[in-house]
Amino acid sequence: MLLDTHCHLQFNGYDKNREEVIERCNQKRMILNIVGTQKDTSKKAVELAEKYDNYYATIGTHPIHLFASRVDEEESSFVSHEESFDEEYYTELAKSKKVIGVGETGLDLFHLPEGKSIKEVLEKQKEVFIAHINFAAKHNLPLVIHCRSAHDEMIKLLQSVIARSPNLIGTTSSRHGGISVPLQSTGQRDSDGSKDPRNDRKIHGVMHCFAGDWEQAKQYLDMGLYLGFTGVVTFPPKKTDPKPQNDLLEVLLKVPLDRILVETDVPYLAPQKYRGTFPSEPWMVEEVVKKIAEIRQKTVEEINQIVLENALNLFTGID
Ligand SMILES: [Zn+2]
Repeated sequence: MLLDTHCHLQFNGYDKNREEVIERCNQKRMILNIVGTQKDTSKKAVELAEKYDNYYATIGTHPIHLFASRVDEEESSFVSHEESFDEEYYTELAKSKKVIGVGETGLDLFHLPEGKSIKEVLEKQKEVFIAHINFAAKHNLPLVIHCRSAHDEMIKLLQSVIARSPNLIGTTSSRHGGISVPLQSTGQRDSDGSKDPRNDRKIHGVMHCFAGDWEQAKQYLDMGLYLGFTGVVTFPPKKTDPKPQNDLLEVLLKVPLDRILVETDVPYLAPQKYRGTFPSEPWMVEEVVKKIAEIRQKTVEEINQIVLENALNLFTGID
């Protein structure tokens, strides 16, 4: 059993070979969470999830789609849409039992649309992100959070949501998502593990494709979030600027094992072994698992088991 908690297998990049990719994933008995980035790709994620037993969907609007602009990634470029959060539309999609999360949503100050000030971009992104948080709480679904070049703003925003939204916090039961406030505010699990970890969670969700440092990681972990790791963890440190990668490896060494999720973010971010492959494929998540096993001195099987349990704890809609 292999798990990819964040992939975009519904993207157009797979229109020519999706069936073959699915066949390769099914041979490895994969569980996939197919993540939407706008209305159209959220709908396609749900449609794909409906077709396969072990496929699930997450629905929402990515921050780069709030303004129309050209987006250049390492492997590809595309034109983003100008969309907002259409609650009615997403409510309809959320009726599917295959919907297990809300996102990806969050903040992105890496791709700034031309002619817009940071203030304007950030205001819009915050407004839409909060709409997703409300939606997630209402539907008892965990959040899949995107954050790029905006950790300070993200941490501040999440802390203010926790502090100022008593109507949001405390909506959770131990079985479901939403946002919860812990009965005891230590944010720590009992060492015997007997306490349900969901009761400790202040925000039910994952920082997807986490690539920050340990100080940032600690803040998210204190808020109850999981950290999702992609093929980025397999990249060698850049000779010209090794710090970000070394910081990420430090996080991987220190993060509690019960807060780790593995993901690919395909078609992007192929692990080092396959770097440059576009579109990359969900089974490449094996490389992420291998890297974590190596750093934590565990076997691949042990890490696979741990990340599966973590995913089942967070995404309670997986059955
Ligand atoms: Zn993504």
